[in-house]
Amino acid sequence: MRSSLIGKIEKAKRYAQEPERITFSDFAAVFRGDNNEHKIGYSNEKWHCTCYFFSQWGTCSHVMALQQVLSKMLPKEALISSMTTEP
Ligand SMILES: [Zn+2]
Repeated sequence: MRSSLIGKIEKAKRYAQEPERITFSDFAAVFRGDNNEHKIGYSNEKWHCTCYFFSQWGTCSHVMALQQVLSKMLPKEALISSMTTEP
């Protein structure tokens, strides 16, 4: 029992070095911007953010920052900025 748990811990350490194994499908977070906190998330293959810029452009600095931080762990649709697909 104990040795199998040690094996799992070892495997977890290795997995943690390989973030590309993990793909977020749905999540929510609070983003502390310079001026305000914004609720940001990704669900049903769409980003959302409560900031004003996002409501106008469909993307924002908070989305862009998360795209960089989580890059390897996002589905490829989540890395495409919606600014390029919407007027
Ligand atoms: Zn935002």
